[in-house]
Amino acid sequence: MKLTRSIPVPDSVLQIPVLTVTGSRQPQGPCLAVSAGVHGDEYEGVRAIYELFRELDPAAMSGTLLCVPVLNPPAHRACSRVNPVDGLNLARVFPGEPDGTISNRIAWVFDQQILSRASFYLDLHSGGVRYGMPSMVGYDSTDPRGRAAAEIFGAPVIWGHPVIEPGRTISAAMARGIPFLYTEAWGAGRIARGDLDMMKRGILNLMRHLGILEDEASVVAPPPRRLTGVGNTDGGIVASMPGFLMLDVQILDRVQAGQRLGYLVDEWGSTLEEYNASQDATIGLTREMPIVEAGDTLFLLASEEQEGTA
Ligand SMILES: [Zn+2]
Repeated sequence: MKLTRSIPVPDSVLQIPVLTVTGSRQPQGPCLAVSAGVHGDEYEGVRAIYELFRELDPAAMSGTLLCVPVLNPPAHRACSRVNPVDGLNLARVFPGEPDGTISNRIAWVFDQQILSRASFYLDLHSGGVRYGMPSMVGYDSTDPRGRAAAEIFGAPVIWGHPVIEPGRTISAAMARGIPFLYTEAWGAGRIARGDLDMMKRGILNLMRHLGILEDEASVVAPPPRRLTGVGNTDGGIVASMPGFLMLDVQILDRVQAGQRLGYLVDEWGSTLEEYNASQDATIGLTREMPIVEAGDTLFLLASEEQEGTA
């Protein structure tokens, strides 16, 4: 059965769209919750959910696929990373509260009404208009359930994090003991075909992994590149002043300690400051919007597991 409904946000006219596909084989089976649109300038996951909702056949499924394609409607309509009503990043306020600002209330209804039902949770992100990110899934490297799911997702890169920072959708899932993954992708305010395909394939692979989908098809993907380290977009290498960013490196480049990653110039093109790698590393994130403010994250450095090790 396919169902389209809305959940109201307290003390507002806001409705969160919810798309549910319940399998007819065994309706009481596991529930995979999938969200997109936490940040309003990320679109790959939104479209992946819309397409899968049309394509899935409930007769081939057990359990439930529970999707929120646009978790942050005000940010989505404004094409904005943050919610324009309260200026907050929705991925920093979880698990939210029922009488806080609009972002807090969105987080709260999602945590109470969607996450509470999930046996596994997937949050679909991308680089948005500011950042470049690898096409990847991220997971909690302290939870073998997350690692196992990351390995079967079919993404070209998997990134294990030793720490999950508070305030995220996935930290709310972790607080409930629910295993999770999140995606990243190139972004740039557009939908790259390969990233859309990766997210749809990954959701289907997760559904097979959880026993929701029992079809024969299983997409064999080449082994992923495996990154480790903190993936916090509020950290990494940060600009100490405003300027125009000149990048020397690209996503997933391998760099050596001391290597210049990029530099900031003023409107005359004169160098304001340079950014160098503190260690041998793999580039996990780049700032792609060249106009930067003081405090903006420019680079995240990750470590790479050696091939053949796990
Ligand atoms: Zn995001």
